[in-house]
Amino acid sequence: MSNKAIIVGASYAGLSAAAALRCKGWEVEVLEKSADTGRVGGGVVVQKQMADYLEEHGIASPRVSSVPAKMRMMFQPDGRILHLPETAVAYTAWDVLLGEIQETVGAGRIRRGCEMTGVEGDSHTVSISLADGNSMEADLLVAADGIGSRTRKLLLPDERPLYAGYVAWRGMVPEERIPREVRDTCSGSLCSFLGNATSILAYLVPGADGSIEDGRRRVNWVWYLNVEYGTELDTLLTDSEGTSHRAMIPRGLMPAETERAVRHVAREQLNDHFTTIVDATEELFVNAVFDYHASRLVFGRVVLIGDAACLIRPHIGSGTSKAVDDAIQLSQAVTGPDFQRDGSLESWEQQQTLTHVGLMEQSKAIARRLGLGVGVEEAYMSEVEAV
Ligand SMILES: Cc1cc2nc3c(=O)[nH]c(=O)nc-3n(C[C@H](O)[C@H](O)[C@H](O)COP(=O)(O)OP(=O)(O)OC[C@H]3O[C@@H](n4cnc5c(N)ncnc54)[C@H](O)[C@@H]3O)c2cc1C
Repeated sequence: MSNKAIIVGASYAGLSAAAALRCKGWEVEVLEKSADTGRVGGGVVVQKQMADYLEEHGIASPRVSSVPAKMRMMFQPDGRILHLPETAVAYTAWDVLLGEIQETVGAGRIRRGCEMTGVEGDSHTVSISLADGNSMEADLLVAADGIGSRTRKLLLPDERPLYAGYVAWRGMVPEERIPREVRDTCSGSLCSFLGNATSILAYLVPGADGSIEDGRRRVNWVWYLNVEYGTELDTLLTDSEGTSHRAMIPRGLMPAETERAVRHVAREQLNDHFTTIVDATEELFVNAVFDYHASRLVFGRVVLIGDAACLIRPHIGSGTSKAVDDAIQLSQAVTGPDFQRDGSLESWEQQQTLTHVGLMEQSKAIARRLGLGVGVEEAYMSEVEAV
């Protein structure tokens, strides 16, 4: 009989874990509390290691539905434009790649509207309780439940992400909404503008149906702004229905007055190129940026992966590929019949922790150079912020 894994969270970490464990002969079931997981993401950098694995295992083909950028265009505040060669990067879209991985896992293995509320385990099995009062058992629980991970709160109650002092405003615009001259500038380039403690970048990604033909793609943009912890951040993270969020407001729930205010700031702080792109965006969404890495990833038959395990600031485009990598490496660590006792999970934990810490430091260094969260960061570190 094959081993059974229950995976909590049907986003990048969870669905990649499901696909990779299936390749190793595991039976998998994915539990996802939301009915729709497609409304949060933007662009995804096609990292080589992630793409190689997904393609070699027939899980997804991120290189096929991706748009390359061969140049970096840096708009200067004085109006000059620097053209720099970019080491061939390709971008895909969150919804497109996630949709492909989901199709490989199979809808029948994903239970939507199903919320995990509790975990208990011993050396033989792990038992999961659900919000509907039912429970389930498995050989392994993969907690891929994201930044607000319930599993992490249960297992590491004293640890939590810390607000980094800035947010990312984001948008995805069908390219035909953008005037031809602006959109031609984006074509084949990663465009960026660096202002005073603020920066924005934009690049082309496939259309929602995966199309990469001219006229059918989307422009993805991310704009970083320092925002003070407290009332300013709280106001920004309150949605149009009055609900307060800790980390993000998904597309479609932004109050009109917040959106008006941020569009006004965009006109004041960005150059014409980016103001045009922001103005052409129908729905804005926002993520607050946090820092975290778990002191442990393995708890007997329970493991933490993806954002539940570690948060990488977005500047190196590694959040998604790191989540996929956690999953791939995990699937390779649980191949033996005695995976829980043979030390392979501990080796996986050590290796992933080293990777996480390295990526965190790399992305924090970029944020410092951009003037993001600088000066405010330490003040917030003492205020423990629950996500
Ligand atoms: C500002 C910002 C910009 C970013 N931009 C990029 C980018 O351009 N490219 C990139 O590659 N990455 C980017 N990232 C990072 C990326 O979004 C995350 O690293 C990635 O989503 C992690 O995936 P995950 O599966 O671990 O978690 P998530 O995507 O957060 O998924 C967790 C899932 O678990 C579900 N869940 C939670 N609790 C439960 C429960 N109790 N029961 C059942 N289900 C549950 C949730 O509904 C959710 O679907 C960005 C992040 C930020 C903050």
